[in-house]
Amino acid sequence: MSALTRSDVLGLPSTRRRKGEKSDRFKARGEKMTGKACKGCRMVFTEDIEKCPNCGSAELSAKFSSQIVIFDPAKSKMAEKLGAKVPGRYAVRIK
Ligand SMILES: [Zn+2]
Repeated sequence: MSALTRSDVLGLPSTRRRKGEKSDRFKARGEKMTGKACKGCRMVFTEDIEKCPNCGSAELSAKFSSQIVIFDPAKSKMAEKLGAKVPGRYAVRIK
């Protein structure tokens, strides 16, 4: 007797949750570019740093655009072009 009422109760909240997930994904698209890009190695950092932990350069710029994420620098042609040797986020254009 109790098994039938349980499945009825569980069925309703799961459909409501799926609708909520879609609206959250749409909000994430409007994310602004924040952080600093290193002029030495092009790596992008979200924290407020004074020196690049990757190459040690103190030349950091907050004005950059077109950032890419490199997962495997050994297999990526973009990593070769940018001179990226470690996986991470890199800025293509730094002002
Ligand atoms: Zn650097």
